[in-house]
Amino acid sequence: MTAIAVLGSTNMDLVAYVPKAPHPGETVTGREFRTVPGGKGANQAVAAARLGGEVVMIGAVGADEFGVRLRAALAASGVETAALRTVEGASGTAHITVDDEGANSIIVIPGANGRVTGLEPGDDSRIGAADCLLLQLELPLEAVLAGARAARAHGVRTVLTPAPAQPLPAELLAATDLLVPNEHEAAALTGLTDPHRAAEALLREVPEVVITLGAAGSLYAARGRAPLTVPAPRVRAVDTTAAGDTFVGALAVALGEGRPVPEALRWASVAAALSVQRPGAQSSMPTRTETDTAALAADGATP
Ligand code: ATP
Repeated sequence: MTAIAVLGSTNMDLVAYVPKAPHPGETVTGREFRTVPGGKGANQAVAAARLGGEVVMIGAVGADEFGVRLRAALAASGVETAALRTVEGASGTAHITVDDEGANSIIVIPGANGRVTGLEPGDDSRIGAADCLLLQLELPLEAVLAGARAARAHGVRTVLTPAPAQPLPAELLAATDLLVPNEHEAAALTGLTDPHRAAEALLREVPEVVITLGAAGSLYAARGRAPLTVPAPRVRAVDTTAAGDTFVGALAVALGEGRPVPEALRWASVAAALSVQRPGAQSSMPTRTETDTAALAADGATP
């Protein structure tokens, strides 16, 4: 079983469904309001756990009702939450407006995530015991760096999702084994909109890159190897929220099991394609059995 440590964010997503998002000064009547557990760290942790990883989540929730729910949601998916601290104040929240066209606007208030500034006692050995550490950029950079340093010191593979996009310190890139930006993040990091050229540029900084391309699949590039394009299964997408997080969680599980990169990428694409066919973030993430069955069907074999 792949052991995965996630150092990252937990947010409660507060989602307002509206016919049309309001302009400044305007009030609109919405259709529906939902609170759903999210945050890129927690999403990746849940994805990996559902897919059979043994996952420990390192981070923080606030001492509020959302904190209790966020922790419970992780535990319900089988994620170990002993290293998820409860700190004073509010949990992280994402205030999301989704209009009838499916377009969204989001305000993220880091809350407890913003108070994670480094590792706590015990975290270093949790990271050291993992096959891989998943990092994103929704915690303060100093915490992300501390995690990357610990992983490097223990020889643990680091997988960094550079979202939300921001300039990356050289030390973080130097401690990253696999960088997984989407095409917008890859363009923001390199100034290059062509994914092949962006991947080439990123390989000067890290040994392996996967650029996710939405319905167009993904592009894998590694130093000294020919790039590999992996198509996404053709499905009817109803909600692509957390497709990227599902992809990363799945990829980490498959690579940790020692599967060859092309097979791991195909399996991650199948998992992500399952998630886009259902609404929600964590609630849309597939189980191991579902993903294995769909992967076999995609290969043309009988499940
Ligand atoms: P998000 O921010 O919504 O989590 P992202 O922008 O980080 O997503 P994407 O590149 O949109 O990431 O998607 C990640 C992966 O999910 C893709 O590489 C692909 O394998 C799969 N995927 C996304 N959208 C679709 C789709 N419409 N159909 C099939 N697979 C999809």
